Amino acid sequence: MAILQVTSHLIPSSSPSSQIKQRRIPSTSLYLNHPGLSLSLSKRNSRRIRTTFTIACSASSANQSSKGEEESVKEKSVSVVLLAGGKGKRMGASMPKQYLPLLGQPIALYSFYTFSRMPEVKEIVVVCDTSYQDIFEDAREKINVDLKFALPGKERQDSVYNGLQTIDLTSELVCIHDSARPLVTSSDVEKVLNDGLRVGASVLGVPAKATIKEGNSESFVVKTLDRKTLWEMQTPQVIKPELLKKGFELVNREGLEVTDDVSIVEHLKHPVYITHGSYTNIKVTTPDDLLLAERILNTDSFVPA
Ligand code: C5P
Repeated sequence: MAILQVTSHLIPSSSPSSQIKQRRIPSTSLYLNHPGLSLSLSKRNSRRIRTTFTIACSASSANQSSKGEEESVKEKSVSVVLLAGGKGKRMGASMPKQYLPLLGQPIALYSFYTFSRMPEVKEIVVVCDTSYQDIFEDAREKINVDLKFALPGKERQDSVYNGLQTIDLTSELVCIHDSARPLVTSSDVEKVLNDGLRVGASVLGVPAKATIKEGNSESFVVKTLDRKTLWEMQTPQVIKPELLKKGFELVNREGLEVTDDVSIVEHLKHPVYITHGSYTNIKVTTPDDLLLAERILNTDSFVPA
């Protein structure tokens, strides 16, 4: 007997089942996906007599616009800028952290493959040192999107700028991702892409779990920030290319300091939407993070792509 457990049913009424694309069917799980809708069906306890299936559906916030209209990201309309130009010194390894093996595969290849399987993605611009390009070149025949390279800059923002110069001019969205975040899922990417198209700029984030205080230079507490309003930012960060270009012009002209990509757009006073992401989309920074990433990948319910 199969028990169907529906954990959420926010299926947009405007999503005809015929549009739902079947992505992959491993032996014990079924995974369906559609811009704005993801559905996974996993078979558990397969050795027991009673078999339990779990259905999890989620609807993108982009489908909840005030007019109830649904605007989906078109096929082959997104350029991904995959940042892999950092040195990752905090890992203390002999090579940059994004190339360390995670369950036998370089960390940077996880999100590379996730993006490469998404119909919305036209091309991936990998920003990396020439000595690491062969890692991606070797994967070229396994992917269905264009592969380009750009050279890293001194700071992360310089690397983003170099990637932006290389993207296809017809792309509707640029999706900037840290290759040190291998566990981003295609359903979260679809949500942030839809929000980026709707608003112009969007970023994956998760509500802050920790209490965060502002301190002064002498280490005294200045104030406690209201946790309810705090989000931890992740990547991808999705921006319309013309907006990002305008933002770079302003930042360069006025010598402004930016820590992430959407901050550039914030300087233009343009709204940025926070798309609710997943806590599993961790950034691998220290050896502990590598162990955590392995554990997440080994979890039955984790479906990256
Ligand atoms: O150092 P951090 O973890 O913040 O870097 C985030 C991402 O940006 C990493 O994927 C890193 O490879 C990339 N990066 C880059 N160029 C730089 C610095 C960082 O592509 N100059």
